Amino acid sequence: MGELLADHTTLRLGGPADRFLTHTDPASWPDLAHTAAGDAAPFVLDGGSNTLAADTGYPGTVIRMDTRGVAVRPLGGDLVEVIVRAGEPLGSLVAFTVAEGLSGIEYLGGIPGTTGAAPASPRTASARSRDHRTGSSGSPWPTSRL
Ligand SMILES: Cc1cc2nc3c(=O)[nH]c(=O)nc-3n(C[C@H](O)[C@H](O)[C@H](O)COP(=O)(O)OP(=O)(O)OC[C@H]3O[C@@H](n4cnc5c(N)ncnc54)[C@H](O)[C@@H]3O)c2cc1C
Repeated sequence: MGELLADHTTLRLGGPADRFLTHTDPASWPDLAHTAAGDAAPFVLDGGSNTLAADTGYPGTVIRMDTRGVAVRPLGGDLVEVIVRAGEPLGSLVAFTVAEGLSGIEYLGGIPGTTGAAPASPRTASARSRDHRTGSSGSPWPTSRL
């Protein structure tokens, strides 16, 4: 039997995937993508918090993104660029930026899931920071930068 999706989703539901690939090393992505290329509709799975899988499983390839890592590149002045691998948990990223004294994505704290999935998930993609003192909305999740 293939890998059970129930073991990879928050709701603990989902039968086996026909084929289950785990992506951990960016250098091996071309090989993994080539392996999955024959599949008509490979499904990319990250933390599984926004995914409901059928009991009958997935009739194709599931690619589990499990790449980790955060890097910071100074841009000059007070600005930095934070480069994050897709499988990095969103909570870890927020904790990292706070620990580094970087501000801007604190409003994403507490949202389950991974950094790569957040822009792909409609709810998170439309999330906006909110100033609780004024009630005004701040910058949207910067999908164009991810
Ligand atoms: C209890 C709970 C509370 C939540 N609270 C909030 C909240 O307060 N605010 C909010 O905005 N959201 C919230 N969510 C929604 C959820 O956390 C987000 O949608 C999250 O970004 C999903 O991440 P994931 O890694 O679990 O995605 P998954 O469930 O693995 O995938 C979700 C979708 O993204 C696609 N995807 C996954 N990885 C990639 C990738 N690397 N590239 C392209 N597509 C990809 C998948 O194919 C799938 O369609 C909540 C969910 C739960 C269960």
